[in-house]
Amino acid sequence: MADNVNTLPFFYGNITREEAEDYLRQAGMGSGLYLLRQSRNYLGGFALSVASSGRCYHYTIERQPNETFAIAGGKSHRSPEDVIDYHSQEKDGLVCLLKKPCNRPKNMQPKVGPFEDLKERLILEYVKQTWNLQGAALEQAIISQRPQLEKMIAKTAHEKMPWFHGSIAREDSEPRLQNGARTNGKFLIRQRDMNGSYALCLLHEGQVMHYRIDKNRHGKLSIPDGKKFDTLWQLVEHYSYKPDGLLRVLTEPCPRPGGDIGLIGRPPLPNPSLGSTLGTLQNVAGEIFSKIKGAPTRWNRGSQNKNKDNTYATGIPGSQADNKEAMPMDTEVYESPYADPDELRSSTVDRNQLFLEDGELGSGNFGTVMRGVYKMRKSEKQVAVKILKNDDNNPAVREEMLREANVMQQLDNPYIVRMIGICEAEELMLVMELAELGPLNKFLQKHRQTSIKNITELVHQVSMGMKYLEENNFVHRDLAARNVLLVTQHYAKISDFGLSKAVGEEQNYYKAKSHGKWPVKWYAPECINYFKFSCKSDVWSFGVLMWEAFSYGQKPYKGMKGNEVLQMVEGGKRLDSPVNCPPEIYDLMRTCWTYKVDERPGFAVVEPRLREYYYDIAQ
Ligand code: AMP
Repeated sequence: MADNVNTLPFFYGNITREEAEDYLRQAGMGSGLYLLRQSRNYLGGFALSVASSGRCYHYTIERQPNETFAIAGGKSHRSPEDVIDYHSQEKDGLVCLLKKPCNRPKNMQPKVGPFEDLKERLILEYVKQTWNLQGAALEQAIISQRPQLEKMIAKTAHEKMPWFHGSIAREDSEPRLQNGARTNGKFLIRQRDMNGSYALCLLHEGQVMHYRIDKNRHGKLSIPDGKKFDTLWQLVEHYSYKPDGLLRVLTEPCPRPGGDIGLIGRPPLPNPSLGSTLGTLQNVAGEIFSKIKGAPTRWNRGSQNKNKDNTYATGIPGSQADNKEAMPMDTEVYESPYADPDELRSSTVDRNQLFLEDGELGSGNFGTVMRGVYKMRKSEKQVAVKILKNDDNNPAVREEMLREANVMQQLDNPYIVRMIGICEAEELMLVMELAELGPLNKFLQKHRQTSIKNITELVHQVSMGMKYLEENNFVHRDLAARNVLLVTQHYAKISDFGLSKAVGEEQNYYKAKSHGKWPVKWYAPECINYFKFSCKSDVWSFGVLMWEAFSYGQKPYKGMKGNEVLQMVEGGKRLDSPVNCPPEIYDLMRTCWTYKVDERPGFAVVEPRLREYYYDIAQ
């Protein structure tokens, strides 16, 4: 269905967000002016760029598993064109109606991103093999770490590309390009020396042009006076889009004759076209991964690889990946300990196997939270143990803690603190995964140098955990930065399910019987006015959480009382943007604070919006 998009005059192919904005600007930026482009983040997806009131807005159109298309969280359609038709009649969450297509300049064809598909599959294979993940865990790893994974893959992937001919002489490169079809823009890359200098050889009107590619002392690659790149792969991608100083863009990779660069057992590539390149992907991925020695596997990852400051070595020798910061999948809490088939799933923890350590991690409503070690069948886990302080033996308090345990037991997501079990001993104890860097708000208060990119990565992970809760019909009811705990500086988990409730699919809200001890500054108006709690009211709280995070842990509505906050919100006022907060992020906060529940988006919409922004700034 989407194959026809190439014929749409307003489809630009694989252009960047900035390029899209330029085209809209050149066409006058009239409100409702739009164009369609290929998504650079989602395989097979699209992006819709719209001008409104002098600004550009970008929406992802996802390709769904059943081959339909939808703006994240919105109605599904048969094709991207149908999505556009629909939104020219209905705003349905868009900034404005789509009024006028911004057509491509004359003679411009949609831009093709030749390596997009290849990259996708390499990432998939890489994550599968390095961390031994599958299913939802695999998908979530890729979603949350895509920018980092792309960089990692890109560092080694060029060696396996058909256009990379290894260390051949200039004289040898020319007949290769002249051989067969002499298409303008046909190219190859050869290695000039072992110091990281290469040459790009390009066929232009029957002649071979040689461009030197140098590596500077920061490891950046560039053609003299050209743009700098981390990898050859990115360089090739760039010059496939833009000539940018070359005589022409790169079009067709020149096939490498089999065996020429000493690839182990590689058969000659049958055909230079991208199709056949994709066909050899299993091989390609296999070869890349065979280089990875000592990479953590599913059941041995974790503390043994850990350095000071919670960074981990990934085990890729000699690559930029050494000593890089840990990805969530490198830690021992990415998957449930019970995902290991050798560990018996149990909701109870044997007191004899639980060792409490000195030192409190924190304290909350129920009592203290201590650090501990839980000896499982196969491994020892660092844990956090919430110990019930119930001096007067009040059964209601005990019930409350068991209710929290009951909710936690039903949840299994990398971005949610998992319960390992309940331990009934001298006290009632709730044994959980350890998130040793503690609450997000306190961490950011202490680490003011944390980058916007880092904060965006963390809040995006929170939105992933919340999307999971939404999909499973749970409302959190106490979402706040204090209840987001950090495993590492790049890995956040949602905690504290003391107020959480399961809701029905039909009646998708929880109605409280009476007002309780509530965090009203985080609550949507319908919670306070009608005691109604839904995933949409969690979205409101998520907006406040974002505000806290981008304010480096400041208190929201400082100095105000709960009823003053409600008055302010009812009067249409909202928290101001935190200092230096990106406008896209503040826009999203404001959307989370949409007064009417029905008009407020769910996490199915909020998460992809944050994801898109994160990918954009992390590239
Ligand atoms: P709570 O009773 O859930 O509000 O927890 C109180 C405090 O204990 C939190 O603010 C954290 O500092 C600490 N804490 C709770 N759970 C964990 C955990 N799983 N890992 C590390 N620290 C925790």
